Amino acid sequence: MPHSLSAVPTAITVHAPSKVNLYLRVGELRDDGYHDLTTVFQALSLGDDVSVVHAEELTVTTTGEGANNVPDDPTNLAARAAIELAAWAGRDPSAAITILKQIPVAGGMAGGSADAAGALVALAQLWKLDIDRDTLATIAAKLGSDVPFGLHGATALGTGRGEQLIPVLSRGQFHWVLALAREGLSTPAVYRELDRLRAAREGAHDEPLPPDDLLQALAAGTAARVAALLHNDLQPAALSLQPTLRRTLRAGVDAGALSGVVSGSGPTCAFLCADEESAINVAAELSGAGVARGVRIATGPVPGARVV
Ligand code: ATP
Repeated sequence: MPHSLSAVPTAITVHAPSKVNLYLRVGELRDDGYHDLTTVFQALSLGDDVSVVHAEELTVTTTGEGANNVPDDPTNLAARAAIELAAWAGRDPSAAITILKQIPVAGGMAGGSADAAGALVALAQLWKLDIDRDTLATIAAKLGSDVPFGLHGATALGTGRGEQLIPVLSRGQFHWVLALAREGLSTPAVYRELDRLRAAREGAHDEPLPPDDLLQALAAGTAARVAALLHNDLQPAALSLQPTLRRTLRAGVDAGALSGVVSGSGPTCAFLCADEESAINVAAELSGAGVARGVRIATGPVPGARVV
């Protein structure tokens, strides 16, 4: 091998999935400012790529979808992951991290959390750390409620702040269409709006069905049944802050989706479709309807952050 090539550092790249909440029930506001959650996550094929190489110091560079709205400084969740992992290992957090974003920023699809999970997996390998999955998950939980799920992937029931995970049996592949909104929504702002609506009793909503039915539908792999049981307590708050999302949700169902739901804290709307062909048709119609900044097709469940 020529000398110049041997000097090129080898990058480790990890693909980190986005998520949709099939079910999200928000408990009352706790004294520590958090809400207790019961949620069912599914990891989707739409994901970010996080690459790391050895470097003198810690840097992070973001390219791709919405990169302008992502900080390239230590507040980037991938950089925070590097700092936490290095502290655990008792070493410098030096590495150059590059993120290729496909997950919409501030879209309710846990993009920053995916990047943090991706950085943990990539850096553990780059730095040749002897660290098991449970320890990685503990570090992940410190970084954010959705980061452990970014590591876990697949389909899981989340409790606590969403960081305590139990795997959920899910048969077959589900076909999703995602409608990306023109403006993002801040997760804390959506929770504040939920608290405001609840305090004013304007947000009165039906008691959500217990997730047992949903868990059975997932185990059976019945898309129509899963679609009927999608539920998100944050949806009224997201709709209150971005009323045009009502039109987006209607447009997806009119286009032939089985059902639609705001993903997490929004504003991305996720539509579950009967099969791949239906997803392609729904995506085409939604693109033409002018209700979204962009439309993506995704499948789930997929694995958690992993080296590619
Ligand atoms: P969640 O679904 O977990 O509530 P989200 O998907 O709605 O989160 P993110 O895309 O994670 O939202 O971004 C929220 C904010 O976090 C952004 O506005 C951005 O400034 C900041 N941020 C920090 N690091 C990242 C990152 N790696 N990718 C995206 N946003 C990041």
